[in-house]
Amino acid sequence: MKKIHLLPEDVAQKIAAGEVIERPVSVVKELVENSLDAGASEIRVELVDGGKALIKVQDDGEGMDRDDAALCFRRHSTSKIAREDDLERIATLGFRGEALASIASVSRLTLRTFDGTGDRGTMIEREGERLIAVTDIAFPRGTSIEVRDLFFNLPARRKFLRSGQSELGPVAKYVTQAALAAPGTRFTLVHGGRETIACPPVATLRERVFQIYGKKMVEGLMDIAAEEGPGRIEGLASLPLAGRADKSVQHFFVNHRPVKDRILMAALSQAYMGILERGRSPEAFLFLRMPFADVDVNVHPAKAEVRFKDTQLVFRLVLRAVGGGAARGHTIKEVLPDDARQGIDSRIAESGPGYPAPGLAFGPAGTDGDMPLEARDRPGGLSREYLSPSSKPAPGLDRAAAAAGKGPLILGQYENMYIIAAGDDGLLVIDQHNAHERVLFEKYREIDRMKLWPRKILLIPPLIELPPSAAVSLEENAALLEELGFRVEAMGGRSYALKEYPDLFKAAEATDVLLGLLEEAAGTRAEDRRDKLIATMACKSAVKAGEPLTREKMGYLVEELFKTSQPALCPHGRPIVVRVEKSVIDKGLGRK
Ligand code: ADP
Ligand code: MG
Repeated sequence: MKKIHLLPEDVAQKIAAGEVIERPVSVVKELVENSLDAGASEIRVELVDGGKALIKVQDDGEGMDRDDAALCFRRHSTSKIAREDDLERIATLGFRGEALASIASVSRLTLRTFDGTGDRGTMIEREGERLIAVTDIAFPRGTSIEVRDLFFNLPARRKFLRSGQSELGPVAKYVTQAALAAPGTRFTLVHGGRETIACPPVATLRERVFQIYGKKMVEGLMDIAAEEGPGRIEGLASLPLAGRADKSVQHFFVNHRPVKDRILMAALSQAYMGILERGRSPEAFLFLRMPFADVDVNVHPAKAEVRFKDTQLVFRLVLRAVGGGAARGHTIKEVLPDDARQGIDSRIAESGPGYPAPGLAFGPAGTDGDMPLEARDRPGGLSREYLSPSSKPAPGLDRAAAAAGKGPLILGQYENMYIIAAGDDGLLVIDQHNAHERVLFEKYREIDRMKLWPRKILLIPPLIELPPSAAVSLEENAALLEELGFRVEAMGGRSYALKEYPDLFKAAEATDVLLGLLEEAAGTRAEDRRDKLIATMACKSAVKAGEPLTREKMGYLVEELFKTSQPALCPHGRPIVVRVEKSVIDKGLGRK
């Protein structure tokens, strides 16, 4: 018995349509892309019942003449590419020539269009696969497409549509993305007669973000940009210490096409490590530009994903763009007495800590018993000059003040945990442990970059018995640990000998630090591991909360802190400084 036969054309068409068109947002996306490709400066999207009853997209783009209008519903009919090698350089949003064919086959559709030549436009009415009528109409230049009763002839799929309100959500999200990608285009989204999105044309991305998200969001964003080889990235992203609790405001565009991309998402979160508090995520509007030949956009039926030829380049671009932006703007957390969230972030980048410090000497700490801070920061055998970042003060800080050895005036220590200092326009409360951790982290990273870990070699190495998980972590990370100054030798079973360790720790601490590193390494992704381990070493060797500090030590620590690239956050993402503004104190005490 013969069992294989060709599917009737209309059945095949419906199956294919199902791949491109899943729900109302898919229709909106395809139609808006066509409008953008047609060079529209105004795009209006109208929905009734979340698009289940009606989706209408109208533009003022180049329109179509009668012949093109008749052709555009044929599968694989497109004006955008002609030959196979055009696929190597796709500059338009559409190229598959499938969208109109697919939409038309699963809805009742009316097209109105006019290309400005001749004196009449064209109206075409269709119902599923059937052409109902072609009519002459008076119509302004541009195109309008009405899609009614989506999936009226595919009841199985229509059943899967959600409520009108739920279908509206993704549409609003898509129109938002499209509007972000084209600030010069007017976008309107109307649902049930109400304007949900209204964006008149503007000159910049920042203004568009303002239109959509409002003032508060815009104030928390910095400009970012980076360029390397054939790639360029620019856009807006959260200032240090800003951000939000979720990842809902992260938009990525590749050659102006909104994309969902794991590489870009991962690069963004890595770029923000140590720039945002733990548990917070950046807001981001990232526009990546690449030669068309270096990005494959033809990997997804709805064109929502792309594939990069050089993913490392993409990673570096994001890290560099965010890193550069963050270094320009330091942020300190401000304390307001009546603020529940107790953290309005204010920029101190431009002013810098130009604090007066009358009569306060900075520099090497006193010799009062235990190891002076400065000595810990400066492992034996290394010259102070190269270890101290003072030769290259962090951008955005007051170089003159730094060079003159001035910092905030230290007032004292509170509860053996916090350093209280007088700044330009308020009191600073500095967490001594977090501050020292930040200072050491940057020094250690520099040491690591130069491969100059000072090592202590043990003639009689202590034996450590490792728990199984730590032993596994050690096997996996032995090379990295060795680079960081820890040389460990297997002695059989789970016994190990610690032969060398970085000369930053007391002998008694070294084993403990190693165990901490093994645990940290086991729970960290490979690409973050090095920095995480260095952060752990900084944490273990920093002064602890509860340690009394001399004024000299405090002065030295605070001075060094403000020379780091990020004085506001420790490498683990905890805040280091809070500021109580003078005006707040004045107000509280009734002085104007
Ligand atoms: P694609 O966008 O991949 O080319 P579509 O099926 O979406 O395929 O559209 C087919 C063709 O119809 C397009 O190539 C374009 O020439 C024309 N077209 C579609 N929508 C519009 C529009 N809004 N304005 C002008 N021309 C359009
Ligand atoms: Mg298209």
